[in-house]
Amino acid sequence: MRIRIAAANWKLNQSYSEGINLANSITNLLGNFSDESTKIILATPFIHLHGIAEIFKRAFGLHVAAQNCSLYTSGAFTGEVSAEMIRSTGAEYVILGHSERRNIFGETDEMIAQKIKLALAAGLNPIFCCGEKLEERNQSHHFQVVRNQLMIALKDLTPQQVSEIVIAYEPVWAIGTGLTATPDEAQEMHKFIRSEIATFAGASQAESISILYGGSCNAKNASTLFAMPDVDGGLIGGASLIAEDFIKIVHSL
Ligand code: PEP
Repeated sequence: MRIRIAAANWKLNQSYSEGINLANSITNLLGNFSDESTKIILATPFIHLHGIAEIFKRAFGLHVAAQNCSLYTSGAFTGEVSAEMIRSTGAEYVILGHSERRNIFGETDEMIAQKIKLALAAGLNPIFCCGEKLEERNQSHHFQVVRNQLMIALKDLTPQQVSEIVIAYEPVWAIGTGLTATPDEAQEMHKFIRSEIATFAGASQAESISILYGGSCNAKNASTLFAMPDVDGGLIGGASLIAEDFIKIVHSL
C-alpha cells in the first residue's frame, strides 16, 4: 500500500516551548485522526525530537523526523548528532539531501548517500530530497539532474532498503520562493522518479514508494498537487509553521 504523507520541515525555527506548543496544537486540531494509509511527520530541530516523540506516542499516524544527521557515528566531532542518537530520541525519520544542506553546507551526492546508509543502519527512514535548480530546468537538464541524484543515493542499496525511503521531489527554484511547480510539472517528474526507482529497485518497490512534492506547497495549492496520481503528499516548509494551514494541507491528502 502506498502511504500518503504530509511532512513538515520546520528548518531553523521554533524555540523549545514554541515547538512543543505547535506540536500540541497540530495534535489537538487533528482530533481522532486514524487512517492507516496516511502519515504526518514533523521534521524539527534536534532539540524538539524527544519532547515531540513523547507527545506523538499517544497519537496515531504522527511521527517525528530530524532534518539532518552526521556523517560520523561517534567520537571527536564537536557539534554533530549521529543517526543512532536521533533514533534514540524516538524519531523515526530523517530528511537527507535537502537543497539547503547541499547548497549552503556543501553536502555532495556522495555524502548524502553515506548518510542514507547510516540512517538505515540506525533504523531511521530517510526522506531523501532531490530536485533541479532553475538554470538546470531552463536548459532542460532537470530529468538528468534528478536521475544522477537518485542514482548516487540509491546505487548501493538493496530493494528492501529502497522501500524504507521516502522521496521528496523539491525543485530548488520552488523552495521558499512562492513559485510552485504546476501539478503537471510535478506529476511529470514524480512519474519519472517512479520509473527510475523501478529500474534501480524493481517494479513493486517503485509502486509502493511514497514520492512527496516540496516547494511553496500551501493550504491553497496542496489539493491540486496531491490530486496527481504520482504525488503522494508534500514536504512543507513555510506553511507548516502555522498549525491551521498545516492541518488544511493534511486534509488535502
Ligand atoms: C522545504 O524547505 O522543504 C520546503 C518545501 O520549503 P517551502 O515549503 O517553504 O518552499
